[in-house]
Amino acid sequence: MSDFSQGTAYVNEQIVPISDAKISLLDWGFLHSDATYDVVHVWKGRFFRLDDHIDRFFTGMEKLRMSIPHSRNDLRAILVDCVRASSLREAYVEMICTRGMPKPGSRDPRDCTNQFFAFVIPFVWIANPEKQTTGLHLIVSRWQRIPPESVDPTVKNYHWLDMAMGLFEAYDRGGETAVVVDTQGNLIEGPGFNIFTVNGHTLTTPACGMREGITRNTTIELATRHGYKVEQRRLHADEARAADEVFITSTAGGIMPVTKIDGQIVGAGAPGSVTRRLQEAYWVLHEDPDYTLQLDYA
Ligand SMILES: *Cc1c(COP(=O)(O)O)cnc(C)c1O
Repeated sequence: MSDFSQGTAYVNEQIVPISDAKISLLDWGFLHSDATYDVVHVWKGRFFRLDDHIDRFFTGMEKLRMSIPHSRNDLRAILVDCVRASSLREAYVEMICTRGMPKPGSRDPRDCTNQFFAFVIPFVWIANPEKQTTGLHLIVSRWQRIPPESVDPTVKNYHWLDMAMGLFEAYDRGGETAVVVDTQGNLIEGPGFNIFTVNGHTLTTPACGMREGITRNTTIELATRHGYKVEQRRLHADEARAADEVFITSTAGGIMPVTKIDGQIVGAGAPGSVTRRLQEAYWVLHEDPDYTLQLDYA
């Protein structure tokens, strides 16, 4: 009997236990980071904004001149089946399209057959609920995010070396996570998250160079609904250091407070009231049928 409880994967049109999933070493997704992907989560047995994640995934494939032999509806059904097979009620669900591999001897991307994979593992937190009660210590990295002129940031991709090195730098400097910057020291994003500041009734978040996070969009929607003003513009690291509140957003954990930047306390040094209000609204939205797809595990 295979163990599906550690997660499941969809490989070669079959659902298998995550530990049995195998891909080719020669796939350009692995050799060249030539891939796009998306991550959606399941919370209390419901997908959150699944169709928005599927849309971003299909748009990314189009921009990278990739395609898969599945429609949006097929993909939705595959992901539902993978989660059901895992029995996980709280899950991290990733869909991936890689370039694949060319014919032997060819270096022509047009010769590649694109490959589709998916996997489901237990929910992943950038900051777990306990950590969220105190807030994260964020390091402003010296590493610059790969510029949008080089890699289209709206296409979810595996160009993560800047952020991976930023994480090592953060740990070396006593921090818990990192945000990478542009040439001018404006904040861009961190490994899998967007960033916001709060000053009075105004939220500010970077406008370009970063991923158009679905949690970022949800936060903007919720903030607007709660009567806050949201500015999307350049956001310098010094502004974040002086802000009332700072938080990060990701599918891997939602809205998570930052209470220290580079060893200095932010605001009152505890998760702020605006952050907490939005955080609560974010999780309440996970019960709203307009935003969720309930799974039937029977
Ligand atoms: C996925 C991702 C985000 C956050 O996007 P969500 O859709 O909110 O999960 C932010 N930055 C990077 C680099 C990402 O890959």
